[in-house]
Amino acid sequence: MAARFIGSVVAPVLWPGLSRRCSQHATGLARSPGSLRPLGSNAQPLWRMGQYTPAALGEQLSRSYCSTQSPDVYTAPPQPLAREAPSVGHGFNTLANVKVDLERKELNVSWEGSGAKSQAYPFVWLRDNCHCPQCFHPTALGRLPSSTHHLNVDVIADVVEISADGRSLIVQWDDGHESEFLFHWLGYHRFDQSLDDQLLYPKQSLWGSDVNIKSFDFDELLAEDHSLYSWLAELVTRGVALVKNAPAEVGQVYKLAERVAYLRATTYGATFHVMSKPDPSSVGYTTGPFAMHTDYAPLSRTPGVLLLHCILPAGEGGESLLVDGFKVAQDLKKIDPEAFRLLTTYEFDYSEKGTDCFGSFYMHSRHPVIKLNELGDVEQIVISNQSRDPMLRVPVDQIQPIYHAFNKYFNMLQLPENLLQYKLQKGDILTNDNRRVLHGRNSFQTNARHLEGGYVEWDEVNSRLRALTLQLQKNTTDE
Ligand SMILES: [Zn+2]
Repeated sequence: MAARFIGSVVAPVLWPGLSRRCSQHATGLARSPGSLRPLGSNAQPLWRMGQYTPAALGEQLSRSYCSTQSPDVYTAPPQPLAREAPSVGHGFNTLANVKVDLERKELNVSWEGSGAKSQAYPFVWLRDNCHCPQCFHPTALGRLPSSTHHLNVDVIADVVEISADGRSLIVQWDDGHESEFLFHWLGYHRFDQSLDDQLLYPKQSLWGSDVNIKSFDFDELLAEDHSLYSWLAELVTRGVALVKNAPAEVGQVYKLAERVAYLRATTYGATFHVMSKPDPSSVGYTTGPFAMHTDYAPLSRTPGVLLLHCILPAGEGGESLLVDGFKVAQDLKKIDPEAFRLLTTYEFDYSEKGTDCFGSFYMHSRHPVIKLNELGDVEQIVISNQSRDPMLRVPVDQIQPIYHAFNKYFNMLQLPENLLQYKLQKGDILTNDNRRVLHGRNSFQTNARHLEGGYVEWDEVNSRLRALTLQLQKNTTDE
């Protein structure tokens, strides 16, 4: 029998457990070496919106998951809907008990099993998350306006019960709404006790020049979801991966980006071309060396992931240089905490002006060399000597210490144990986290080297990873 109580009861009564129902970047103004530049009149089309129809992607996504390989990265369990039948229990068994605390205006729920957890759920949160058709759109999967109008913080349920099979908590409210919360949904949503989304604070593997960069086959990435998942997971954990065997022609960066979502355009268009020109207007179009850098420091929101496709490799020289900026930042913190503090505290200005695909531009932003997140962990490295501006808004007595710290870090980046050199082959697409991995190149001899590059953003990479997790999990369950 459902337990029923009346809102006017104010006594600090902790209700006895309700048993189950029925008893439950082109101007030549940059420092040398210059930044990546696009082709001028030979540039590829800018934004190909038409390419981003999801049909092909949807078809690829529907292919089955190879269950013999396990994913390298796990996100938090995909969020189930309150009324959706659970495919997995997320470690929670059915509901055992619920107690009402009228003074605290909350429910206390426990689950079956030994070492079972219990959790308090304030009534206002439960009412806010009512998934009935009047409160929550069943296909848009979002709250309807009516659900948040006049949300009463002091709301108390009329009736609270656990379904006979122990899978649902059913709450009836005094406005006539009935909310149903499944056992695993409640277990997934335990406020500060909830499992965090691991992609928000990813576990990363720091590396030096002895790292073996993982390779992925281009055609496999276009066709197979597990390969796609593994490549993106590698970008999360190591920040660098190599895609092999792409056709040696323009346009492959688009195809790869479409597997994630879409390209992030810059002032140079949807993609850019890195190649030497007979009369270069910038050092970027030369055969000279390219200092270690991260891309687009003059933007406040620097691009997330760089995709660099080798259409024609350099004959001699032109090796790509890569270094894990996070690893070297940790090394710096250990051997010179003051240098680390200076680089995380003060900001350098970066600027770049010129004219390109979208007319004239003048970008200007400011970043510390080493950016920390709210937990004090390194979340981004920004270094771009070619676009570093003379503007340096710091106390004058800090100028020399800052240069000292910067030189120390920049030199550490180039130590043999940190700096990886790789000669791109025809058809390679080098992919790396632009927030973490610095890249550069050695000088080369021929003028024929041609790379096409583009970016995808981390939000889109993470979104694809979560969606793939759901898809692959579902396929596994269906098998
Ligand atoms: Zn409702």
